[in-house]
Amino acid sequence: MAPELRASGNLPGLIDSHCHLDFPEFNGKIGAVREEMQAHGVTHALCISVGLRDLPNVLNLAETHANFFATVGIHPDHDSGEAASEVELAELAKHPKVVAIGETGLDYHRVSGDLEWQRQRFRAHIRAARRCGKPLVIHTREAADDTLRILREEGAAEVGGVFHCFTESQGTAEQAIEMGFHISFSGIVTFKNAQALKEIARQVPLERMLVETDAPYLAPVPFRGKVNQPAWVRYVAEEIARLRGVAIEPIAEATSRNFAKLFLGRAGI
Ligand SMILES: [Zn+2]
Ligand SMILES: [Zn+2]
Repeated sequence: MAPELRASGNLPGLIDSHCHLDFPEFNGKIGAVREEMQAHGVTHALCISVGLRDLPNVLNLAETHANFFATVGIHPDHDSGEAASEVELAELAKHPKVVAIGETGLDYHRVSGDLEWQRQRFRAHIRAARRCGKPLVIHTREAADDTLRILREEGAAEVGGVFHCFTESQGTAEQAIEMGFHISFSGIVTFKNAQALKEIARQVPLERMLVETDAPYLAPVPFRGKVNQPAWVRYVAEEIARLRGVAIEPIAEATSRNFAKLFLGRAGI
């Protein structure tokens, strides 16, 4: 049974820093998605690109709706067939609603074999981010050491960004923060078996925290297993507030401020 919706008027505003609204799950449903956002006090969403073939659809969402923004990038899971140079990526990122490069990074869990192409693609994205002065949206899975090493080697601290859907160790979080990056929590933090991640959510400095859904994936409790949507970032923020023993207001305020500073301020929006 769905928990009752609360009125939007007195809800502290939240921003979904990572979602995939161009995916087929949302075909013809953007109007409903936006209504749910409003009902849950979710003011903005960042639509994340996973490949250049799909980029026009992501850009279209950001062009059509003032409170949607976009990124440019090729997901590390996408096979080696799709390539882009740092020049091409930086050129595409000049679009006025593109606020970051990504998602990019390393994924040694879902892809195997010789992954040098993945590392080269990651380097091209970091160089593109430095070239256009926009932050990075990092995806990393079972590849934390290589991710941190390549970020250091490529001077990524110059642009910063976010480790999205964070599921790595406390040590990795600390090194990412030291390099100037933010840590973004998804619905995973609401899962009962995510004790280590809950502990990290208690520790991350508020000024480096973001929240996201990664919709259509990773619906939070109490919707686990359903098609996720940006409105439900509220359940992520509520769990973080509970874990830290604070009200939701400071979590909402900090994560929205961090989003604006990292993505909008830099893009001159
Ligand atoms: Zn990802
Ligand atoms: Zn994603």
